[in-house]
Amino acid sequence: MTLGERAAALFGVQLSAEQEAQFTTYARLLVEWNAHVNLTAISDEEGIEVRHFLDSLSVVKALPPRPDLRLIDVGTGAGFPGLPLRIALPHVRLTLLEATGKKLQFVQTVIDTLALSGCDTLHARAEEAAHLPAQRGQYDVVLARAVARLPALVEYLLPFAKVGGRCIALKGTTAQAEAADARRALALLGGRLAAVHTLRLPGVADEHALVVVEKTVPTPAIYPRKPGIPTRKPL
Ligand code: SAM
Repeated sequence: MTLGERAAALFGVQLSAEQEAQFTTYARLLVEWNAHVNLTAISDEEGIEVRHFLDSLSVVKALPPRPDLRLIDVGTGAGFPGLPLRIALPHVRLTLLEATGKKLQFVQTVIDTLALSGCDTLHARAEEAAHLPAQRGQYDVVLARAVARLPALVEYLLPFAKVGGRCIALKGTTAQAEAADARRALALLGGRLAAVHTLRLPGVADEHALVVVEKTVPTPAIYPRKPGIPTRKPL
C-alpha cells in the first residue's frame, strides 16, 4: 500500500501524486540530515511513514471542518506533526515553533525544497513566544507531540489559542492519566477537556491518542510562567 492509500483508509485523507512525491522528498531529507543533526531515532522507511507521517496525519480526526485554519506546532522538532498536515492540507496556515535552531533549519529546508506556502518558522521557547502579541490568542488549532506531560503542556499551548479554538496533543497510552492530572491546570488556564480520541497505527502495538482541549475563556496574562517553570512546577 502507498502512503496515500494508507492515509485514505485510516483517516480519509486524500493525497495527490504531487503530495505523495512531497512526502518522499521529506523522508529523503530527514534521512540525509539525520546523519549529521540529531533529528529522530526513527530513520527507516516504514518507521518514518507510520510513526512520523501517518501519526501526524491522524490529527485530521480532531480538526475543525474548515479549510482555512491557522495552526501552530509547538516544539515541532523535525516538523511533526505540523509539516505532514500542511502537505496534506494546502489551505492551512502553519507556524512551526522550535527552541533548537538546527532543527528549525531542517524544517525551513523542507519548506523551501517543497515550496510550501503559508508556513512560518519561529525560533523561540513556547513560554516566551506565547507572550508576543502577534502570537498570543491567534490560532484556531495548537498542536504538540512529545514535548511535555499534559499538565505542563497545556500551559505552553493554551495561550496561543483563540477563545473557541482548540489544542490537540498527540499522546500514547498515558493520555487518560495525563488528562486527569491536567484538570487543575486547565481550569486555571481557560481550557476544558473536550475529547480523548484513541487510534491504532499499522504495526504499532501501543494505542495512540489525540487529547483535544477547547479554549473557553482567555488565558490569564501571567501564563505561561518563565521558561522551565511549567515543567518543573506544573500547575
Ligand atoms: N514534535 C516533534 C516530534 O514529535 O517528533 C519533536 C519532539 S522532541 C521529543 C521535543 C521538541 O520540543 C524538541 O525539539 C525540543 O527542542 C522542543 N521543545 C521542548 N520544550 C520546548 C519549549 N518550551 N519551547 C519550544 N520548543 C520546545
